[in-house]
This record gives sequence, structure tokens and C-alpha cells, in this order.
Amino acid sequence: MANVRLTKVGKVYEGPSGSAVRAVEAVDLDIADGEFCVLVGPSGCGKSTTLRMVAGLEEISEGTLEIDGARVNDLPAKDRDIAFVFQNYALYPHLTVGQNIAFGLEQRRVHRSGVKAMLTGASAARAKESEAIAARVAEVSRTLGLDALLARFPRELSGGQRQRVAVGRAIARDPKVFLFDEPLSNLDARLRIETRTELRLLHRRLRATILYVTHDQEEAMTLADRLVVMHRGRVQQNASAQECYERPANRFVAGFIGTPPMNIVDGRAERGGFAANGVSLALPARWPSLNADQPCALGFRPDRIRLVAAGAEGSVSAMVAAVERLGDRTDIALDSAWGRVVARIAADDAAGIREGDACGFEPDPQHLHLFETGECGARINPR
Ligand code: ADP
Repeated sequence: MANVRLTKVGKVYEGPSGSAVRAVEAVDLDIADGEFCVLVGPSGCGKSTTLRMVAGLEEISEGTLEIDGARVNDLPAKDRDIAFVFQNYALYPHLTVGQNIAFGLEQRRVHRSGVKAMLTGASAARAKESEAIAARVAEVSRTLGLDALLARFPRELSGGQRQRVAVGRAIARDPKVFLFDEPLSNLDARLRIETRTELRLLHRRLRATILYVTHDQEEAMTLADRLVVMHRGRVQQNASAQECYERPANRFVAGFIGTPPMNIVDGRAERGGFAANGVSLALPARWPSLNADQPCALGFRPDRIRLVAAGAEGSVSAMVAAVERLGDRTDIALDSAWGRVVARIAADDAAGIREGDACGFEPDPQHLHLFETGECGARINPR
């Protein structure tokens, strides 16, 4: 296994008419040996391009890529000792599960010994190597619960099983680094959650260095030791999932991580508080750096809101626009002077709430977030 380091890595695609598309900009990333690192962000943010540069499938325009301390910018993909699992499995349809898993090992054998040696070489050595490959395939298929499927062809497998075979093929070679590009996105919701858990357990067993790309923030949060949130080709935050959730570095991360998304309201600081559209809220005296009248945005998560009676002092007046009952909890969309705000409350507390009801809401003063204005406005830290 290995560590992977990106220093100021950038990618510029040359367009057909000489125009240039900057896909990735100044990405710094240090993935420790055995770490599960997830790149997450909306479509087009540069995740796949970053991954493909690490794989050697895309040229690096700027910066340095190191694996185990050695610069590998110009090393061909096949020499980087990296395994890649794609979204669309890419299994060989005419090979069985066992042959698919063995494929990389067989390739390496041919590559190492050369075709001539394959034809003329000592048969004893060849047999020994075949035995080693068979043992490795058996070991990998046991690890992934594929023993009973070794003789089947890909068309005889479910989507989840195919994905497991693709993972099996990757781990059979025992590479330095694993790269995963949206590997679960072709699976249905339930299987995605199951396979996600399997991947996490597999990582714990292998202690492999993994760089994993997904647009699904929930998948990212459950898998990652380290979460790297990207937007517009840049890293917006690089921290644990917990840290990104509790202390988002900027407004983009705040809105991207967490479901339902954080409520974010544009307004201004005022003496001792925050105001938007003529409605004020007192802020705890923890934001000493705020200047009165400074434009800023206030964030609060849906589960950090208290619903109160209409007109209650200190609350924001609202009307219930929609009620979504989700079993143990209920999401309530509220229309207010602060725009549409979503509150998530326990189902029991929501029993009597109906669409059209007048009420008030209060964000929990202990769990407020403030940001500078703009799409990626920086977090304003409380004391
Ligand atoms: P993601 O994986 O986050 O969806 P990508 O890395 O695929 O994003 O793409 C990042 C940006 O680079 C996008 O704006 C995309 O249109 C552009 N891009 C990706 N591949 C190419 C290419 N081969 N040529 C030109 N532009 C590309």
C-alpha cells in the first residue's frame, strides 16, 4: 500500500477551437497509507478528472503527483500499480467470474514472462504460477462472498454481484492504490446501501489506500475517513465527514453536505443580531468580528429548528406550506419572510400540524452558522 500526494495539481482541457476549459485548479491532497479518501461534489466539479490524472488516464497540466514519495506525473498508467473500478463494471462478458477475477493476474504473467517464454518455458514453473493464481482467486472470492458464482458469466449475475466481481478483479492484483469512480451509481437504492457497507468492511480488512469519487454526499459521508468537497474545479474543504457537517468551511459546503440541506438566508448583521427582509433574530454574543450592517448569510440545519406558536416572541412568523411524513420524522416546509425554510421534527411532535397552519420558528441559537456572502462565502467563526 502507499500514500498519494497531489501538489497544486491542475487540468486544462484544450477545446476544439483553441478555447481552454479549466477543469481542475490547484488541488492539494495528501492521502495517507491505508486511508479511504472520498472526492465529492456536484456533476462537473472536476472529481473524475482528478481521479483520472491519478490513474494516468489523463495528462496532468500543472503540479505534481507523487506515489510513495516518487513523482509519477509521466509514468504510464500500467506502471503505476493502481487498480481502477468504474461505474459500468467493464467485466469481460465471455469470461466467467473466476476468469474475470484472474484476468489481471494472467495479464501480469504474460507481461512478465513474455510470449516466447509462455510458449517454450518450463511447464513446472508455469503450473506453479497457475496454482498461485487459482489460490489468489479463491481467496478473493471468499473475501467477497463470490465462491458460489465462480463458474457463472457476467450476464448471469445481478448488478450488485457484477460490481463485487469488478472489485474482486481490482483487489486480486494487490495494487498500491485503489481508485473508484461512482462504482455504486448503477445499483438500486437498497443495494447501494448494502454494497456501501461491504466496501467499508472490505477497506477495514485490506487497509488499502482508496481514492473514491461520488456525487452522492450521503455515500461520501458514510465511506470517508477523509472527505474532499469539490466545486468548480477547486477543493472547498478537506476534512473528516463530521467536521464538514459541523463546521462547513464555506457556504457551498454547508449547502452540499447534509439532507435535507441546511437552510441559508441572505441578510445583514445588525447590532446583536441578524436581519433579513425586515425580520430580525438575536444572535448569541459569540460573533464579535461582525460589523453592524455587514452583508452575510445565516445557516441553520432543518433538525436545529423549534416550531412555536404563531406570534411567539423572538420567532420568525411562517405558514406551513407542505408536510412530508417520513415515518419516525417529519419534514415541514415553511414559507416566511426569510423565504422557504425546512424543519425536520420528530413524527410525534408533528402529529397535529397541517398544511396552511400559521406558526413560528426559532433556529437553535447553539447551532447557527454564519457565512460571508457569495456562493462560496467563507465561514465566519464564532468565538
Ligand atoms: P465530475 O467528475 O465532477 O462530474 P469532470 O472531471 O468529469 O467532472 O469534468 C470537469 C469539467 O471538465 C467539466 O466542466 C467538464 O465538462 C470538463 N471536461 C471533462 N472532460 C473533458 C474533456 N475531455 N474535454 C473537455 N472538457 C472536459
